Amino acid sequence: MNQGLTIVPPPVVGEALRRLEARGFQAWCVGGCVRDSLLGKAPSDWDIATSALPQETKACFAGERLVEAGAAHGTIAWVPSGDHPIEITTFRSVTAVVDGHAAEITTYRTESGYSDFRRPDKVGFTRSLSEDLSRRDFTVNAMAWHPQRGLVDLFHGQEDLSAGLLRCVGEPARRFSEDALRILRCLRFSSQLGFAIHPDTARALWEKRELLLALSHERVREELTKLLCGQGAAAVLRQYAAVVFTVLPELAPMKGCAQETPYHCFDVWEHTLHAVDYAPQQGDLRWAALLHDAGKPGRKTRSADGMAHFYGHPPESGRIARQLLTRLRFSNKERDWITALVGHHEDAMPMGEAHLKGLLGRYGERFVFTLFQLQEADMSAKAPGVFARRLPDLEESRALARAILERGDCLTLGDMALTGEDLKALGVAPGPEMGKLLRRLLEAVQRGEAA
Ligand code: ATP
Ligand code: MG
Repeated sequence: MNQGLTIVPPPVVGEALRRLEARGFQAWCVGGCVRDSLLGKAPSDWDIATSALPQETKACFAGERLVEAGAAHGTIAWVPSGDHPIEITTFRSVTAVVDGHAAEITTYRTESGYSDFRRPDKVGFTRSLSEDLSRRDFTVNAMAWHPQRGLVDLFHGQEDLSAGLLRCVGEPARRFSEDALRILRCLRFSSQLGFAIHPDTARALWEKRELLLALSHERVREELTKLLCGQGAAAVLRQYAAVVFTVLPELAPMKGCAQETPYHCFDVWEHTLHAVDYAPQQGDLRWAALLHDAGKPGRKTRSADGMAHFYGHPPESGRIARQLLTRLRFSNKERDWITALVGHHEDAMPMGEAHLKGLLGRYGERFVFTLFQLQEADMSAKAPGVFARRLPDLEESRALARAILERGDCLTLGDMALTGEDLKALGVAPGPEMGKLLRRLLEAVQRGEAA
């Protein structure tokens, strides 16, 4: 790996390093930006670690715009004056680099006394880079780099990077006990980077999985969403199912739930993992794919011929999805959206015109085309041959949805020529009955029985 060629920080980073060093402090690029640069990927943000204490950092940028949201933990963001606004993007009040126009500067830290398994009792500042690097989670995240001084790699991060390996800095069980979020971070980096997990680290994360129950639901949600959107999501979920089931116990019954039908060649869990893999890497679809058959184990019956049936599983999956997403503190909007995808994943194909118009009217165009993507992933994950047999029906539904939208057909009450006022003129009293009548008229229009 040629560090000099692969790492190109944005100008604001170089400028921040120069300013800190001009006052006699050390300053290095650290963490994800070093890892991603060495992998030849563009870092999403640039973190700078410095020996300067927060007040000293501030003095280096006197008179300039600073965001001190994380100052208690030593983090200050410098926003050079210019035309670009800055965005606060995460709940930890960390500042994102927008168009390369902000640098996040954190004082070298040590952490100690994790009595609640989720945050240090004390954050101490230190003047030592090596102490700061040694409190970081994984060897590939614990490297520092400087444009003139090169790479500091105290824990063989580069070697692990080349081998595609995630390994804790220090003793894994202790590091996971200090902060259980690292367990999920490990799984999500494995999924995002496609890296294997070193056996000692893997054993420790399995042993310490119960500590995940002490984490806030929001943090679990954020990590799981990143995990699900990674390239290696299915492989990680497969290999570390027991760890994932600790925080998502509703999914556990899927594993080993056989599907004795001609349409399936996997048990429910393995089918789910394939569906996750086929779904585009976006949060709503990956969550919907993960949850779409969660209701199957509870709905399994068998007919006299030995075939398994899962009647009524979509609404049951929807119920489980709603409960799980509520617990993980998804916004109501996201929860309702994913739950509706799950609840409709099995809608009959090809979709009839009235049904499609109902979906388009109720949930909108983006929802319906997202649902098609979910259905495509679902059928890709079934027995060989199912996809080829079912695809024409799906394409027909897609074409019909497009035609309905192009024609500008009546989809919502607002689209109807007839309004409540018209009904009032005809002598219908305003109130809930009028609403029901209007919806029945809309359905009749969508079935083509009224114009
Ligand atoms: P991403 O590209 O997702 O931002 P990242 O590696 O930058 O990846 P961050 O969550 O932004 O991840 O954290 C920045 C750095 O801080 C990490 O690379 C790691 O060195 C350190 N770090 C973050 N969270 C922890 C933690 N819980 N325990 C130990 N070190 C951590
Ligand atoms: Mg980062």
